[in-house]
Amino acid sequence: MADRFFPNVMPSFVTEDIQEEDKVTDEDSLMKLLSMPYTSLSKQFQRSGLDLKETVTRTSLSFVFISWVAFALFGNVGTVGNLGTALLLYKSYQVTSNENDLFLCLEIVKACDSASRASRDVTFICGRAGVCALGAVAAKHANDEALQSYYLSQLGEIKLLRNHPDELLYGRSGFLWACLFLNKHMGQGTVPDTTIRAVANEIIKNGRALAKKGGSPLMYEWYGERYWGAAHGLAGIMNVLLDVELKPDEFEDVKGTLKYMINNCFPSGNYSTSEEDRKRDVLVHWCHGAPGIALTLVKAVKVFGDKEFLEAAINAAEVVWNRGLLKRVGICHGISGNAYVFLSLYQLTGNIEFLYKAKAFTCFLLDRAHKLISAGEMHGGDSPYSMFEGMGGMAYLFLDMIDPSKARFPAYEL
Ligand SMILES: [Zn+2]
Repeated sequence: MADRFFPNVMPSFVTEDIQEEDKVTDEDSLMKLLSMPYTSLSKQFQRSGLDLKETVTRTSLSFVFISWVAFALFGNVGTVGNLGTALLLYKSYQVTSNENDLFLCLEIVKACDSASRASRDVTFICGRAGVCALGAVAAKHANDEALQSYYLSQLGEIKLLRNHPDELLYGRSGFLWACLFLNKHMGQGTVPDTTIRAVANEIIKNGRALAKKGGSPLMYEWYGERYWGAAHGLAGIMNVLLDVELKPDEFEDVKGTLKYMINNCFPSGNYSTSEEDRKRDVLVHWCHGAPGIALTLVKAVKVFGDKEFLEAAINAAEVVWNRGLLKRVGICHGISGNAYVFLSLYQLTGNIEFLYKAKAFTCFLLDRAHKLISAGEMHGGDSPYSMFEGMGGMAYLFLDMIDPSKARFPAYEL
């Protein structure tokens, strides 16, 4: 199990040294970062985030070119993670107001649009809805009304089929998240309530149909397994439903589902990957395990104001602190994604110990990720530049750490 993560030997809190930023000490470079005043550290996050963004963007620009050729020759080629680069460029534009980033973001979305036009994938993270939603929001910032209308009309063309699942990566809740993202960034009603209600109704209906007496009030299946985590399971679906105006009985079922998970978590505070795999306390990822569930529980505290959810989120964060320094860098199952657990708890509680922990995970990446990857001690990701698996996620976290009070887990926290 220990080969999945580095033992976390960082102190549980380090006070920032306000006075002596440039002092010469024997401390190692990571400890120096941890004690650095935040104003100086955030400049380092910004510099490294923007440098990494440049590297990630260069690889995606070859995709833009290749996608035109491949689309002309073969038709659909898929977005293969490139929409994540567009999202990173949009984030960078938000931080620096550099219009070049916005322009490149729109170019990549355009290539993803061509590459995915025949795709049946419907979600924000893996499908057409992400292309349309990000395209419309970026076009709004570029004051291009025709392009906004184009992407919104393309969203309206997406068909949810009976055999689409309900989970976040490929299913209804992932489509719904794109609609909520649009309404947040372009104004309520951009996607009509009737559309949102219809999808939410279907998700609730399917969840109730698979629920068993005495178990969770809502249950879902993906490829024959009843997952619990953010990517394919209960946590991801509940996370999206918590942003919809549900009826009281529906909210009760969402609440009951989260309580079912809390009541059946591992003694360590971690969560199983699925109903079928209730014994192996192994994964501490956003996709499977405590991190994704903790983010959903933080949202539940905001909706229900229930202390039980806060306690469970803090317990899950403790698991992330102890076993979440993963040997990967990305958002999905890497250190970058896990850092967002502390950021969301910091935003909820104002407790700077959580901010410190987010900072510690980020500084670990800043100080060591490149060296550890080069030495073969850390995995660079199957797609090394992608947002969910690779450097793209790390760049996004660095940029989010410039203003931690506004950080949001990309494509998960609205
Ligand atoms: Zn993952």
